[in-house]
This record gives sequence, structure tokens and C-alpha cells, in this order.
Amino acid sequence: MNTTDRRRVVRDVVVAAAATVVPLMLLLATNAAQIADTSLVWATAAVAAVVAALVVLAVRRTRVRQPGLVVGAFGYTFFFNSFFGPGPLAARLALWLVMGLVAVVVLRVLVGEGERSQWAVAGVLTAVVAVCAVLGTTSGEPSAPEAIAFESVDAVRRPNIYVFVLDGLARPDVYREEFPTVDVEAMADNLAEHGFDTSEIATVNYSRTHISLPSMLMGEYQTTAEAPLGLDGEWAYATETMGGNNRLVSMLRTAGYSYWHSESGQWGHFPCDRSFADRCLNGDQSIEPETASAIWSLTPFGGAPWPGLRPQDPTTVVDSVLAARAEAERSGDERPVVMLSHIISPHHPYRFDADCGSMHVGTLGDGWQDEYRQLYADQTTCLFRQLDESMERLIADDPEAIVLLLSDHGSQFGIDWVPGEWSDTDVRRRFTSFRSVRLPESCSTDEPRAHTLVNVSRLLAWCLTDEPPEWLDSVQYTQNYHGNRVSAVPDHQRSLLDPR
Ligand SMILES: [Zn+2]
Repeated sequence: MNTTDRRRVVRDVVVAAAATVVPLMLLLATNAAQIADTSLVWATAAVAAVVAALVVLAVRRTRVRQPGLVVGAFGYTFFFNSFFGPGPLAARLALWLVMGLVAVVVLRVLVGEGERSQWAVAGVLTAVVAVCAVLGTTSGEPSAPEAIAFESVDAVRRPNIYVFVLDGLARPDVYREEFPTVDVEAMADNLAEHGFDTSEIATVNYSRTHISLPSMLMGEYQTTAEAPLGLDGEWAYATETMGGNNRLVSMLRTAGYSYWHSESGQWGHFPCDRSFADRCLNGDQSIEPETASAIWSLTPFGGAPWPGLRPQDPTTVVDSVLAARAEAERSGDERPVVMLSHIISPHHPYRFDADCGSMHVGTLGDGWQDEYRQLYADQTTCLFRQLDESMERLIADDPEAIVLLLSDHGSQFGIDWVPGEWSDTDVRRRFTSFRSVRLPESCSTDEPRAHTLVNVSRLLAWCLTDEPPEWLDSVQYTQNYHGNRVSAVPDHQRSLLDPR
């Protein structure tokens, strides 16, 4: 190889490596606030750069000596999904392949094998796709939310507070009625041994996760027949409030609390937002699943779950809480903690059998269909075991803790989401919910309004201050799945929520 050749190879390798890093740096730039640990992005960028360099080296003596194409292929692959997704995985892969081949053919016909023009065309194409991708991901995105202020509480005590929301966990009487294989008495006894009181009267106020969670965190009804938020509005709102911009967290921060956020794991819901969370908990995962999902979702494979994404369950969350407590102690951080964790269980996809033996993620029971009722029951049995084991460890480590085990809604199979037309069974299944709480004696109560989800922040304020709360009345709202039609559950159906 003469000097000119060598120089050219070095230049090609450097340019190819640098160019493949661009998509990942853009990901980093647009998600800086959400990515708690950026090492995975840097590592992926490093691997992509090395692979691009190796490919350029490998093809340099062959007839396809076209480093511009190598760079184009990498950029095209990494931007493809934000450009063309979402859609069925197989269709997008086919589109990716066909469009890639067409692009190569067109490129060769138009500019031949001249190296300089190859570089120019690859550069222009990559830049166009990148600009479109960036515009696509940033347009219409809400600007940084304003922090919500809430009246402070004069706390007379400051125990650590751990809030777990188990998605779709039903009330004991519903399990007794409909899922006899689930042993709720054993579960309630186990939790009682750790100081928990399991409710037979708990209710939620909204039928869907997206708005039920914000109603709990904001301590107010959030969407009504007069002012429905709609699906996109609800989802953005849920992500923001679950990230920590909510009245519950705001209230506790004014009382001196540090906010710890645990991500949902599965599906990448509710990422940690550094603007509001003092600490992001990610379980004992060796990689950060949300970041891995974000990188994965850039590629044509992004429609499938990230294979390394490990779903959260109570044991993985408590693992991370205990590790974070030890870390906080080492660093001299003595602030009390409020931890919020939303766990997608027993909600589908059903991942565990009754013995907590793993099933495949997303292949079994990935829906609410009736044929999955037994899978739901089995996952509940596993979840109770995980709760028993993890709460024992948490309480042993933190005996004064306030712990709330809640659910955003009850079980539900086959609802036809038309508001105002729910059957009695639908209303009863969906608005009765799990609630097992470990509270100081001073704020334990049978008052039914205290057992409805919208009053959680009032309950906690009472526990810290001894000031009796002004409970909101318990009202239930049905919605269609698009969230743009809302209807209050009529009085004659409200009695269905009474305990049986
Ligand atoms: Zn839910």
C-alpha cells in the first residue's frame, strides 16, 4: 500500500467511525434529562464506530470499496425507525431491506463508483434523514414542564414512604369470587405479619392507568365529561406526573423529603426524569433498560421489545431501594425518602407462572382476553409471593416505613370501553382495587373515602401532620379507550363497589 492509499484508508475509517456515532449523539442530546446513566449510549456508539471502521477496512480491497455506502447504511439503519416506525416488525424490516437495496442501486446508477461523489451523496442522504428524524422527534413535544407548587405540610414526623402501584391488581373479594386459585387469605395474613392492613373496600376513580395514576399523584379528579384530556394528552400527563412533577412529591419535598423514582421496566413506561427525581432506581439490571430500549427503538428492530429489558417486579425494586439506602447512608444523605414505583404486574404480558417460574415475555397472554384469565390468576399468585418476600426485607431494613401497596385499577377482561354503557360486572371488576397499607396508628382508618385512590396524598399528609384531611368524595369515571369521552358511573352502579 502506498502512502496515498494508506492516507485514504485512514481517512475513510475515521470518517465512517465518526459518522456512525452521530445518531447516538443525537439520541443523547434529545434525551439528556431522561437518561440517568449515559454509559450505555457511549458504549453503543463506540461499538458502532468500531464496527463501521472494520467494515470499511474489510471492503477496501474488494470491488465494493465504497466507504460512503457503509456510512450511509449505518445512518440509515439507526434513523430508520424514527423515520418510518411504528408498524409491524416484519413489515418494517422488509421495508428497511428493500429501501436499502433500492438506495444502493440508485446511488450506483446515478453517481457510479466515483469515490468523491459517493461520499457526497451518502453525506447528503444521511443529513436529510437525520434532520427529518430530529424534526419528527422534537416537533409537538411539550416544553419542559413547570414544577408544580403545593402548599407545604408542617410535618411532625418524617418516616420514609414507599408507594408501589401494582398495575391491575384486584381487590380480595373479586379474587375470591372470580379466581379461586388465588389464595388471598394467605396473602393478607403474610402482609399482616409485616404490619400491613389489606382493604376490602378500596376503589379507584378512573378506569385507565393513564389518568388513574395522575389522579392519585395530583390528589384531584383530572378529567371529566366537561373536559376530557384525550389519549395523547393523558399519556403525556401521566409520564410527566409519574416522573415526579406532581403534588404528592412536591408536598413531600417541601417537608424535606428526597424523591426516588423507580421506572416501570416493561415497555419503557414512565422514565426517570432528573428534573424531579433525586435518585433514579433501575433495579439490579446490568444495563439501563430504558436507555437500551431507546437505542433499540432507533433501529428497524425497534418494534419488538428490547431483548435485555428486564421487567420490574417488587423484588427487583426492593433490591434497588436497599442498595440506594445503603448508598445514601454512605454519602451522608439523611433526608427521608418518598419512593414511587409503578410495576406492570399482574397486568399482561403475563410473565410468571404461579411458582414465579419465568414465561416468555410478550408471547404468552399478551392481552386481556378471557382465555388468559388463568394466566392472570397465576401471575397474581406469584406477585403475592414476591410482595411477601420483598416487604419482609424492606421492613426489616426500615421498620418505621410507611408503605402503600396500591393498584391503578382492578381486573378486567373484555370491556367494551363505551363510556356510560358498562355492565355491572365491568364496573365492579375495574373500579374495585387492591390496597394494602402499612401506616402509623394515627392515620389508620375505615373511612371509605380514605380507601379511594384520589385521596392518597391527603392520607399521607394526615400521617405526617395529625391534621385531619378533607376527603374528596369517591366518584368513578368510565372512559373510551381514546380518552376523549368520559362519563361518571351512575349511582345505581356505585353500590356494586361495596364489599362482598
Ligand atoms: Zn393499569
